[in-house]
Amino acid sequence: MPISSTLSSPSLPSHFFPFDPPHAAPRLTVPSSSSPAAAAAAAAADRFRALAIKKSGFLSVIDRAMEEEEYRRARAEVRRKGVDVEGYLIEGVSVGGHETCVVVPSLNSAFDIGRCPAKAVHQDFLFITHAHLDHIGGLPMYLATRGLYNLKPPTVFVPPCIKEDVEKLLQIHRTMSQVELKVELVALDVGETYEIRNDLVVRPFRTRHVIPSQGYVIYSVRNKLKKQYAHLKGTQIKKLKLSGVQITDTILSPEVAFTGDTMSDFIIEPRNADALRAKILITEATFLDEENDINHAREHGHMHLFEIMEHAQWFRNKAILLTHFSSRYYTEDIRLAVSKLQPKLSSKVVALTEGFRSVYN
Ligand SMILES: [Zn+2]
Ligand SMILES: [Zn+2]
Repeated sequence: MPISSTLSSPSLPSHFFPFDPPHAAPRLTVPSSSSPAAAAAAAAADRFRALAIKKSGFLSVIDRAMEEEEYRRARAEVRRKGVDVEGYLIEGVSVGGHETCVVVPSLNSAFDIGRCPAKAVHQDFLFITHAHLDHIGGLPMYLATRGLYNLKPPTVFVPPCIKEDVEKLLQIHRTMSQVELKVELVALDVGETYEIRNDLVVRPFRTRHVIPSQGYVIYSVRNKLKKQYAHLKGTQIKKLKLSGVQITDTILSPEVAFTGDTMSDFIIEPRNADALRAKILITEATFLDEENDINHAREHGHMHLFEIMEHAQWFRNKAILLTHFSSRYYTEDIRLAVSKLQPKLSSKVVALTEGFRSVYN
C-alpha cells in the first residue's frame, strides 16, 4: 500500500521560518517497558537505597562504593554517546532546527558544526552542507577553540556559493575579538574531488533544501593490480613497475555519505548513486508521524520517515544513520517509529538520539 494514501492531515501553510519551532505536539505512543540499560540503572539505584538503609559501618562504605560504581556504569550506558556502525564510531548531536554536528573520528572529520560540540574540535576536516545556523552557527567557536588548544588550522569545506559570506563573517569575528581564527576554507563544488588523506577523498553531491545545500561522500582509495597483469609473477610485476608502466587501477569505494538537510528528491537523482551505495549513509528524517506529514516535511525542505520507507529499494547502504529529528519527539518516539520500518530497512537503520528528551529522565 502506498504510504501517502495513509496520510490524512491537510498540509499546513508554508511559513518563512527555516525550521519548526519546538513545541509540544502529541507524542507517538511510548513503549510500555524501559530499555534494558534504563532498567539496570533503576534496579541498581533501588539496591543502593536498600543497602544504605540496611548497613552501617566500614563494610557498608565499601559496599556502597561498589553499588555506586554499578549505578554509575548503568547510568553511563543510558547516556551512551555515539553509535558503532559498520566498523565506524559515529558521535555527535543532531536535533532539527537546534544543532547538527556528526563526528567520525576515524576519518578525522565532522559533518556540519551545529553549536560546536567538544568532540568536533579535534577533527581536522569539517564539511558544511548549508548555511542554516543549526548547521554552521558553531563555526567561529570551532576555529577559536582550535586556536586555544594550538591545533593546526583545519580544512573547512563549504558550498562555493557561501564561501565569500563565510569569509566576511569570520573577518568580522576576527575584528571584534582580535583573534586570528586560522582556517583553510575550501569551496568544493558538486562533482569535484578533493584528497583529504592519501587514502581518502571527498566529493560533494546535490541535495534539495530551502536554501543552497550539498552533501558529501567520503571514499577510501586503494590501488588494485590491473586485470591484464593478474597472471604475472611478483618479479615480472616489479620489472614492469620499474619500467614506468601504470600497473594499477585506482579504486574509489564510497565509505560514508552525509546529506545534511534535504528533501527526498536527492534519492532519485542518478548522479547521487554513490551516496546510496556508501557503506554508511547519514541522512535526515525530521518528521516521523502522520500529523506532520510528507507535505509538511516538503514545505520545510525536509524528509519524512515515510519517504524513506517509500524509497527503500534505492538504498544499497549497509547502514543508514538517521538524524535531525524534530525536537517535538522523545527518544522513545524515535525508537518506536524506526522499529516500525519494514524489516529490510529496520535491520540497517540506526537513529542518532543524542540530545533528545527521554520519558525516563
Ligand atoms: Zn537543520
Ligand atoms: Zn536547513
